[in-house]
Amino acid sequence: MSSTRQLFLQHVAQTSDFPMALEIERGEGNYLIDVHGKKYLDLISGIAVSNLGHSNPAIVHAVVEQAKTNMHTMVYGEYVLGPQVRLATKLTSLLPFNLSSVYFVNSGSEAVEGALKLVKRYTGKSKIISFNNSYHGSSHGALSLGGSEEMRNAFRPLLPEIMRIDYNNFDQLTNIDGSTAAVIMEPVQAEAGMILPAIKYVEKVRELCTKNNVLLIFDEIQTGFGRTGKLFAFEKFKVVPDVLLLGKAFGGGMPLGAFISSNEIMGTLKNDPVLGHITTFGGHPVSCAASLAALTILCETNLIREVDEKSKLFVKHLSTNKKIGEVRGEGLMLAIQLNDFEQVQSVIKKCLEKGIILDWFLYNNSSIRIAPPLTITEDEIRMVCGILNEIIS
Ligand code: PMP
Repeated sequence: MSSTRQLFLQHVAQTSDFPMALEIERGEGNYLIDVHGKKYLDLISGIAVSNLGHSNPAIVHAVVEQAKTNMHTMVYGEYVLGPQVRLATKLTSLLPFNLSSVYFVNSGSEAVEGALKLVKRYTGKSKIISFNNSYHGSSHGALSLGGSEEMRNAFRPLLPEIMRIDYNNFDQLTNIDGSTAAVIMEPVQAEAGMILPAIKYVEKVRELCTKNNVLLIFDEIQTGFGRTGKLFAFEKFKVVPDVLLLGKAFGGGMPLGAFISSNEIMGTLKNDPVLGHITTFGGHPVSCAASLAALTILCETNLIREVDEKSKLFVKHLSTNKKIGEVRGEGLMLAIQLNDFEQVQSVIKKCLEKGIILDWFLYNNSSIRIAPPLTITEDEIRMVCGILNEIIS
């Protein structure tokens, strides 16, 4: 009889010829446990999703209760669904006044797609500025924005009128002009290997967008829900976007995404044509219940406030290692800079043997990704840094 692993390779569509193929049976807090009972400390949260650990009891409870109450009823936007309303109300109460209307979707890429249509519809313009080395998803529109020529080139034709500029390059900001509909940026470029923008740079982008009637979209699909030490990373930069994109940790482990804007901007999707943007499962009640449970935990505990201390602990223990080029990032979005992909692969493999799950980045193959659940303890950080230092040395 074929093993589950063989059946996986045969019947589940593959994304590469070299899947990690870990066979995980269950998750418990910061750990994943495989079918042989081996326990792994999860340092990537699969990826940046399980911010509150695996199978968090409060989230599981919310999911079960909502599943028992009702699951699917009608496509998004038609019925008044309590879980959507409660989540949107709580979420917008935590956001600046201009981010008052939540359009629920199923994933990060869908949030990007919805936002692209929204900004074109609202501004009547179609030029979009994105950044080299950015990642916004795999669907056609999101891929058109993405900052990897290798990824884009295989799937042309893509969306026209996308201009990519270099992150942190002030000179190229003159491209944000009156003909631009929107600028889409990640507050931390994650897949580039946790690259931070200068605060002044983000301020300048905001200033030019406002001056030229250009909408600023922040893709917080990876940075949102506490990962950078604030509920949303834009709070760190003291700049408010016109459109905010959420996904990943937003669903508390369930599939959920959203694009959020003002009632005025969002209102343009209602007419000419009506139903101009619709989704069957967007804002699924079970996902919204899970998200609300996750948001409640983030608001009622110290987890977000502890992120910076935990981040510093990683940096303190790793940056003394002479074999590590740099430890960079923000909050619990960190990158360990090594020499090359070979070394990265070897460290990841050896850590896996020792029960630690790590990963690399889409556009940076000489760095290792660290994005643990925010619930990781200081003892676990010290323990994992000890193992990492030993392996890297
Ligand atoms: N934007 C960012 C910043 C992301 O990190 C990702 C996923 N890695 C996406 C968008 C796409 O999200 P999804 O995979 O849910 O479509």
